[in-house]
Amino acid sequence: MKIIFTLLLSSMALATVSIANCFVGIPDDCPTGKVCAKYNPAGDSRCVDIPKTAPMIFDLPFDESSKVFCTQSSRLSTATHVFQNMLYAIDLTSHYKSDPGKIYASAPGKAFVHSGCKNPAGKPDQTKTDDCGLGYGNHVFLLHNEGYISIYAHLSEVLVKTGDNVRARQEIGGEGATGKAAHRHLHWDVHKLEGPKTSWEKTLSEPGWGGYSVPYRFRVKINGTEKIVNSSEIACRWLDQTQAPWSGTYKGSQDPKLK
Ligand SMILES: [Zn+2]
Repeated sequence: MKIIFTLLLSSMALATVSIANCFVGIPDDCPTGKVCAKYNPAGDSRCVDIPKTAPMIFDLPFDESSKVFCTQSSRLSTATHVFQNMLYAIDLTSHYKSDPGKIYASAPGKAFVHSGCKNPAGKPDQTKTDDCGLGYGNHVFLLHNEGYISIYAHLSEVLVKTGDNVRARQEIGGEGATGKAAHRHLHWDVHKLEGPKTSWEKTLSEPGWGGYSVPYRFRVKINGTEKIVNSSEIACRWLDQTQAPWSGTYKGSQDPKLK
C-alpha cells in the first residue's frame, strides 16, 4: 500500500497536467467550484468542475402514498456514488417490510430501455449481485429537453418500451435488486449528455451511463412538509435511523419546456 502511494506521488510530481488526488466526501478538499471525483477503480481521484444543476424540478419517482428512505447520497467516500458518472445519484428504498415500490417517471421524456436481468427472489436485503446491465440491472433512461436524462436502475421489471413518450408520473417499472444492488432499491440519477443532439439516441441505446451526473432538484414531503431538495446537498446512508421517510409530492415539472 505504502509503495503504491509513493509511486503515485512520484508520478504526480512528474506530471504537469492538473490531476490531483483529493478526498471524496462532504466536505471534500477541492477549491471552490470544483468537486472531488474518483476516476478509476483503484480509487485515484481528482477535482473536477461542479456541473450546473439541472434546470427542471423533478417529482419523487415513487407512488405518492409510499414512504421511501434515502440510503445513499453522493460523495460518500465509503460508498459507490463516487465516480463522475454517478456523483449526484441517490439510492431510494421503500421500507423493507413493505411491498416493493412502484417506480414512476419523475418528468415526461422519451424512454430508452435496457432489460432482461432476472430480479433475485427473496428478502429486500439480499446481497447477491451481478453485472447484468453493466451492473445497473434493468434500467430506463428518460430523455428530457436539452440533453438531460433521468435514470432509473436495478428495476425488477420494466413497463415501458424504447421509443415510448412517457408522461410525468407514468408507472415505468418496479423497485428491484437487479445488477449490482446489495439491497432492493432504486438508483436514481440525472445526467447531461454532451455532443451533438444526433448522438444522444445512440448513446442511450447502449446500456450503462452516458454523460456525467449533474445535481438535480426534486420535491419531497418530509414530516408532512413539502421541500425541494438538491441532490448535491443531502447526506444519507444505509441504516441511518435518524432520517424521516420521504413521500412524493406531485406538481409536474417546473421547467416550462417540459409541460
Ligand atoms: Zn446507487
